[in-house]
Amino acid sequence: NYDPSLLEQWDKQYVWHPFTQMQQYLREKPLIIERGEGSYLIDVEGNRYLDGVSSLWVTVHGHCHPELNRAIKEQLDSIAHSTLLGIANVPSILLAKKLVEITPPGLNKVFYSDNGATAVEIALKMAFQYWQQKDGGRYRRKTKFISLVNAYHGDTIGSVSVGGIPLFHNIFKPLLFECLHAPAPYCYRCPLSLERESCKMACLNQLERLMEEHCEEVAALIIEPLVQGAAGMITAPDGFLRRVRELCSKYNILLIADEVAVGFGRTGRLFACEHEDVTPDLMCLAKGITGGYLPLAATLVTDEIYRTFLGEPEECKTFYHGHTYTGNPLACAAALANIELFEKTDLLASLQSKIELLRRGLNKFWDLPHVGDIRQRGMMVGIELVVDKETKEPYDIKEQIGHRVILEARKRGLIIRPLDNIIVLMPVLSISKEELNRVLEIVYESIEAVTGK
Ligand code: PLP
Repeated sequence: NYDPSLLEQWDKQYVWHPFTQMQQYLREKPLIIERGEGSYLIDVEGNRYLDGVSSLWVTVHGHCHPELNRAIKEQLDSIAHSTLLGIANVPSILLAKKLVEITPPGLNKVFYSDNGATAVEIALKMAFQYWQQKDGGRYRRKTKFISLVNAYHGDTIGSVSVGGIPLFHNIFKPLLFECLHAPAPYCYRCPLSLERESCKMACLNQLERLMEEHCEEVAALIIEPLVQGAAGMITAPDGFLRRVRELCSKYNILLIADEVAVGFGRTGRLFACEHEDVTPDLMCLAKGITGGYLPLAATLVTDEIYRTFLGEPEECKTFYHGHTYTGNPLACAAALANIELFEKTDLLASLQSKIELLRRGLNKFWDLPHVGDIRQRGMMVGIELVVDKETKEPYDIKEQIGHRVILEARKRGLIIRPLDNIIVLMPVLSISKEELNRVLEIVYESIEAVTGK
């Protein structure tokens, strides 16, 4: 019950917002959210906004869902937290069993953490330790990783090391470990200057050459399956992920699937790897795991990897990693309720017609003179704005074209986020068709208002 103008003042005075140009933020009126209801966010002045990015790609069954709220409250009445260091707790056991049941077959062990970046950090460290094997009295190691250009895997030093977005990652270069980058299938701006229809995924030949040359030293390849999210919803062609799996097996390199953004229904299947029948060696989950209710992440691995940590007595390894809130019971209870709701509401089945509605609705956007590319995979969309459709000339970053579009959308009652010149849509998965149509209408009008008819 604080006066909104006081909150505004204190926000500007005390809070440093992530990924935000603070000097610009201080000039604008902040949007302060107080409540959520289904697909809507409601601010301190009572204004309602459709949540067009699922509160940073996490919300699944909607905000303030009674069953999710109930599950958390019930757990709270038992215990809020107890550690997993050498002891166990009930929700983390039940959730681990459930995760093993619903993820691709072969992933049989669950290691918990609190956010996507740490799920990745853990996978990298596990992959590194996996290869640390005694060989005739000497340790044999593989110390390098492969990721794709444009990759985003989080903001800790390890996850930044395997990141590939120059704007976010280059500044930290002096702090990072070595990672080899293979070309990403950014077909709209093909790094090999080929055409999507005829290229036969030639970028994978470059990946294979990299693997061939470095297979003795590369521990793992990490990839965002099907969609590179933070790079602007770069969607891989069908078959790309399966081929990456084959190449990893051929060159004895572990495959880490970072399903932090694409997991839990985003692509239309529960996990993106399912589309291509791929089982990675390690899989990172976060974001949608609790449906957007509490911070939680998990790194799943195969028995093959887990077994190397058991070994013979003199060879067995401790995985020296853990966080205070690892396996937090409240978060695990929320995740269990979230997964149960998928089953109860048959969300994945009802999602298919919404994905189709989105596809049809987006077709109209090609008429806009500055829409260069539209990329959709399930309920993930990137609309790339360009100065000129013919030449694909991008807008100068200083024009802040994406930011201007999202401010227009906000005026019309929709919260979305730009990634530079790319407008990103990640609607709440439980959104109604009417709400989804409204999202499309607002985005169209907002792009038109900024870039012209
Ligand atoms: N991996 C991917 C693919 C992501 O999209 C993100 C976040 O956007 C992360 C990892 C990092 O997750 P978190 O922000 O929870 O650390």
